[in-house]
Amino acid sequence: MEWRTRWHITVRWDRADNSPAGVTVVERVVEIPAELRLMVNAARADPHVVAFPYRRVRALVGDEPQHCRNGHSYAGGSATRPVRDWLPCSCGGHLVLRCARCPDVRVDPVVSADCNPSTASDGQRPTA
Ligand SMILES: [Zn+2]
Ligand SMILES: [Zn+2]
Repeated sequence: MEWRTRWHITVRWDRADNSPAGVTVVERVVEIPAELRLMVNAARADPHVVAFPYRRVRALVGDEPQHCRNGHSYAGGSATRPVRDWLPCSCGGHLVLRCARCPDVRVDPVVSADCNPSTASDGQRPTA
């Protein structure tokens, strides 16, 4: 899996008659920065647009791992199901899967050099 950045934009018009969509509020999710820029420029150029707040949202895309690094399948009954955990991180977070049949612990997405995962509840990196 991997984290993808998207933008959630809301465009508000003063009156529905003045909006190309015929409604006063249009909400969109865009995945490409150029697309966001187009929408922002159009909103800025439109004198009837009263506000166009947008924010970055992160979405985890892709499939979860199906087996541990030793080849044990995560599918099946309770005997093979991994213990699932969540590791908060600056990137958005990581899914932690502890194999039920061996000591393997898979972290997905893989912790990168930019990551700052925290296991402690106070958000501090635990000192080894
Ligand atoms: Zn395993
Ligand atoms: Zn991370």
